[in-house]
Amino acid sequence: MTRFISGRTPTTNAEAFERALVVTPGGVNSPVRAFRSVGGTPVFLASGHGPYVVDVEGTEYVDLVGQWGPALLGHAHPDVIAAAHEAVARGLGFGASSTGEVELAELVLDRLTLGEGASERRGIEKLRLVSTGTEATMTAIRLARGATGRPLLVKFAGHYHGHSDSLLSEAGSGIATLGIPGSAGITPETAAQTIVIPYNDEDALAEVFALHGDRIAAIITEAAAANMGVVPPKPGFNRLLGETARAHGALLIVDEVMTGFRSTAAGWWGLEEAAGSGYDADLTTFGKIIGGGLPLAGLGGRAEILDLLAPLGPVYQAGTLSGNPVAVATGAAMLRGAGPEVYDRLPRTARTIADGLSAALSAEGVAHTVAWAGSQFSIFFRPDAPQNYAEAQDQHTWRFGAYFHAMLEHGVSLPPSVYEAWFVSAAHDDAAIERVLAAAGPAAKAAAA
Ligand code: PLP
Repeated sequence: MTRFISGRTPTTNAEAFERALVVTPGGVNSPVRAFRSVGGTPVFLASGHGPYVVDVEGTEYVDLVGQWGPALLGHAHPDVIAAAHEAVARGLGFGASSTGEVELAELVLDRLTLGEGASERRGIEKLRLVSTGTEATMTAIRLARGATGRPLLVKFAGHYHGHSDSLLSEAGSGIATLGIPGSAGITPETAAQTIVIPYNDEDALAEVFALHGDRIAAIITEAAAANMGVVPPKPGFNRLLGETARAHGALLIVDEVMTGFRSTAAGWWGLEEAAGSGYDADLTTFGKIIGGGLPLAGLGGRAEILDLLAPLGPVYQAGTLSGNPVAVATGAAMLRGAGPEVYDRLPRTARTIADGLSAALSAEGVAHTVAWAGSQFSIFFRPDAPQNYAEAQDQHTWRFGAYFHAMLEHGVSLPPSVYEAWFVSAAHDDAAIERVLAAAGPAAKAAAA
C-alpha cells in the first residue's frame, strides 16, 4: 500500500495536474507554468521535436515557448541529442574539472570576441560556468560588490534577472504575471540595497547617481528587456548605462541570459555594435541557449574582475553541478549548430508570424502593437509600444487569456502570460508557420470578444 505513488503515468492533462497539485506547490515547479493568469488546466508535455511539442494526451502544438529560450534549434535537435548521449555514456558528472568545460568556454569566448558582430572590444576574457541564470546574475552582483566595496544595486522596474533576493523588487516574468510587487521572505535590509528605477529613463538614472553615486556597486539591466513583454532599450541607452556607471566607479552588468546567442551570434551586444550604439559591459551573464537545453549558465567579463572569484580572489562562488559534463556537451553542440543561417532565418520567421498575427488582430479591430528586440517579439494589447514597465502594464491584459486558449485549441502553444516574450526557433519551417497563421484568425476573434 502506498500513499502517493499510483504506479501509473497520467494520460490526461487534467489527471496530471490533479496529481501534481497534491505533491507540488500549485502543481508546478516554476510559477508561470501554472496558467494562473490565463486560467484553465496547464498542459503537461511528454515530448518535443523540431518546432512541435506533444502533451500527455498526444496533442501536438507548434511551440512558441521554446523552453523559454534554450530551444534555438528546435526540440530534440539530432546533433544536440547525440552530444548528450555521448556525454551521458561517459558518466553524468564528476564534481571535478572536465575538458568539455574548457572547450565550451573557448567556444563562447571566440564567438563573442571574434565571430560575426563581435569584437575584441567587448572585453569578455573569462567565463565562470554555473547552473542557472539566477546564479549567474546573483554571482555578478556579489562580484560587483566585491570589486567596488560598495553596497547598492540599481535595477530597472519590469526587468527579471532570476529569483535571488536582491533582484525580485518590481521584477518582470512571474512577478509581473502574478501582479505582485516582489516576494515575501526578503528582509527589508536586503530590499533596501536595490534601487529600482523606470527603464529607458535618463533623468531617473542621472538622479539616482547624483544621490547615491558613491555607494552604487553596479547597474544591472537586461540587454533588451523581455520579461515584461518585449521592451527594447532606446538607442544609446545601454551605452549611457556603461558611461554613467564608469563615471561613478560602478560596474555595468548586462544580462544576456535571454538574448545571448539569440539576437545575433554575439547576442544583443552584436546587434547594437552593428547599429553603431555598441556599449562596454563590465560583466555579462548568459544562460538558456548556452546549455543547449540542460541546466547551464555563465558569467563573463574582463580577467581582472573574473579573477576576483575564488579560488584566485576573495569573492566566493561554487556549485556541485557547475560545468556539468552533459550540459557543457549539449551547450557546445547547440552553439556549433547555430551558424549564420540560423541568425538569418530567425528574424524572418518571427516577422512572418508576427505580421500574420497582427493582421488578424487588426481585422478584428483589436488595438495592439507588436514590440521587437531582434528576433524576439511580443504582442501588447495597446496601440503603441511601451518604453517601461508602467506602460507595459497599461494594456488590455484581460484579452490575453482568451487569445492564449484559442491558440492552444488551434494547436499553438504560447507563453502563458502577456508579459513574456515569444520564442521562434530555426526549426520553425513553412508548415509550422502556416499552422500558426491558421490559428491567428480564431485567436483574434477570441481576443476581440
Ligand atoms: N535573466 C533573464 C533575462 C531571464 O530571462 C531569466 C529567466 O528567464 C533569468 C535571468 C534567470 O534564469 P534561470 O531561470 O535560468 O534562473
